[in-house]
Amino acid sequence: KPVIIIVVGMAGSGKTTFLHRLVCHTQASNIRGYVMNLDPAVMTLPFGANIDIRDTVKYKEVMKQFNLGPNGGILTSLNLFATKFDEVISVIERRADQLDYVLVDTPGQIEIFTWSASGAIITEAFASTFPTVVTYVVDTPRSSSPVTFMSNMLYACSILYKTRLPLVLAFNKVDVAQHQFALEWMEDFEAFQAAISSDTTYTSTLTQSLSLSLDEFYKNLRSVGVSAISGAGMNEFFKAIEACAEEYMETYKADMDKRR
Ligand code: GDP
Ligand code: MG
Repeated sequence: KPVIIIVVGMAGSGKTTFLHRLVCHTQASNIRGYVMNLDPAVMTLPFGANIDIRDTVKYKEVMKQFNLGPNGGILTSLNLFATKFDEVISVIERRADQLDYVLVDTPGQIEIFTWSASGAIITEAFASTFPTVVTYVVDTPRSSSPVTFMSNMLYACSILYKTRLPLVLAFNKVDVAQHQFALEWMEDFEAFQAAISSDTTYTSTLTQSLSLSLDEFYKNLRSVGVSAISGAGMNEFFKAIEACAEEYMETYKADMDKRR
């Protein structure tokens, strides 16, 4: 069975570019990938998608028809697509023997996928049929301040607990800024405290107490530094995905069967 890789992350973190990199890597390494685009509003894709939401729902027409703004249009398009998602699952099931990975791109604005009913339906549909891993793409250069880093990690944390799926943190854009600082902050609580100690605002006080709770979260995930532009970190990324797929089999699958 193929492993589903759902790529999420803040707008501009590099999801689409990263997916393109994954497509190039799989093609060059004889890994059999299948590519899905769930962003109805993307103008041009750098990769060829096997399944593209834009073939089914026209987001501009959805906006007109329901009298919506851009975000409402994207959300409604995703809702419409989610109602047909069983068909998408059967398409993949039919090809299951010939696939190693299914790579899934999500809408630019993260909350449209992670905080919507349709996002939950799609995620659950994948996870109940195939080993499924969430990849949270982090804009590394933009996360270098402790407070920004923390809010980004809290978002990733909420996704981990909401989906209950194995999660890989992909620190992207390491061609611009290395992710070493992030690894240090995650491994060494005191290093992070030292970084925020210069800041004595209210936010910082909150950050200090929140960072304590994040310690537990960090133990539950894998992180890799990648660059969608240079291609750095691809092998490490796929190693992390493999480990997550095993974790899915051992923990999540059993857990899901119990809940059902
Ligand atoms: P998305 O909204 O998350 O899908 O982000 P995009 O893939 O559209 O990328 C947003 C911007 O970040 C684009 O200008 C990309 O060229 C740039 N970008 C993405 N990945 C990288 C990377 O690894 N390194 C650098 N330097 N820029 C990147
Ligand atoms: Mg995108």
